[in-house]
Amino acid sequence: MTKGSLTSQNPDNALTAMSWWCLLSDASWIAHPSLRKMSDQAVPLSSGYHMPLLGLGCWQSPPGEVELAVEAALDAGYRHIDTAFIYQNEEAVGFGLHKWLQKTGTKRSEVFVVTKLPMIGMYSSGVEKFLKKSLAMLKLDYVDLYLIHMPVGMKGKHDQDIFPVNDDGMLNVDYATDIITVWKEMEKMVDMGLTKSIGVSNYSIKQLKKTNAIARIQPSVHQVELNVYFQQQEMQEFCHAHNIILTAYAPLGSPGRESNESLPRLLEDPIVNLVAERHGITPAQVLIRFLIQQNITTIPKSINPERIKINGDVWKFSLSELEMTALKTLDRGKSGRSFIISTFKGMADHPECPF
Ligand code: NAP
Repeated sequence: MTKGSLTSQNPDNALTAMSWWCLLSDASWIAHPSLRKMSDQAVPLSSGYHMPLLGLGCWQSPPGEVELAVEAALDAGYRHIDTAFIYQNEEAVGFGLHKWLQKTGTKRSEVFVVTKLPMIGMYSSGVEKFLKKSLAMLKLDYVDLYLIHMPVGMKGKHDQDIFPVNDDGMLNVDYATDIITVWKEMEKMVDMGLTKSIGVSNYSIKQLKKTNAIARIQPSVHQVELNVYFQQQEMQEFCHAHNIILTAYAPLGSPGRESNESLPRLLEDPIVNLVAERHGITPAQVLIRFLIQQNITTIPKSINPERIKINGDVWKFSLSELEMTALKTLDRGKSGRSFIISTFKGMADHPECPF
């Protein structure tokens, strides 16, 4: 059976039947212990650095709560924190990080910190300006990874105008966005020592090819929506072939957000729940393990210390080949995307719109 033939069927009958069959006929999961610690789990990047497979996502984490969430994550063994200028919580993320480093006597270099260039910084001098702003808020000399958040630029009235909207309610997009010029600036940030590695987010394969064609420093990482319902097989194959590590955002289906209403809730999926029951773990742990077991880095978000701890407890078990196959059959292809273009009003006609 080809990958395409699975995703093209109605997910509510044939795929589900296949998944149930896979699981009910499989007993091999019992023999897959994995004893490694979370802090040991990292993937090599083309930049020469290593990136921990599991990180804490910080989007929609209010500053008042993210500080504790970062501490809780680091206490639980996470060594990777994902934030962005547009999350407006970098200062609190920095507080949590520094408090924990001081409390434990751990070196800064032990934690992999990611932040992102905002859409309003998508012009030549915007890259250094916004990276320096992020570093000042995080109180860091460098980040481990700086990402272009989105290939589409926007024209903000000021530096906090992160989603500039016109009178007609449409985003004030910058039609002149030049992703090549911006990438050249990203490379300079490595030369200046302000970031160890650079990458992109929400790019199409065409945009990755365009960037790779001119890059002196190749993108090390591509951060995209990726989960059991939206597995992005073509993107996975492209990134694998070009030594680009994928980071999966919305690994749990981003349940705390208004999204594609036609999609069922990933955490309630019967197959995901069946796999969870077999291991005596949570559905969230299944979804996270599914990704890291394929060397896809992922950044589940939570501000709840108990959930952070359990989400991070994914190293003492592994999913069997048949369980992985059953979960792979849940891919809904393009219709599995939950971050849909209607969320970004006015972006669809931008020449670099990736969706
Ligand atoms: P997600 O991690 O799939 O889901 C987060 C939601 O799940 C939160 O509402 C969280 O609530 C809840 N949750 C966490 N653990 C849970 C559990 N064990 N059981 C039930 N619910 C649980 O979605 P996401 O935040 O959209 O994506 C993750 C991260 O990716 C973001 O935080 C951000 O860092 C990054 N991201 C990047 C982009 C991009 O454009 N590059 C876009 C979106 C996201 P509580 O906090 O209450 O636990």
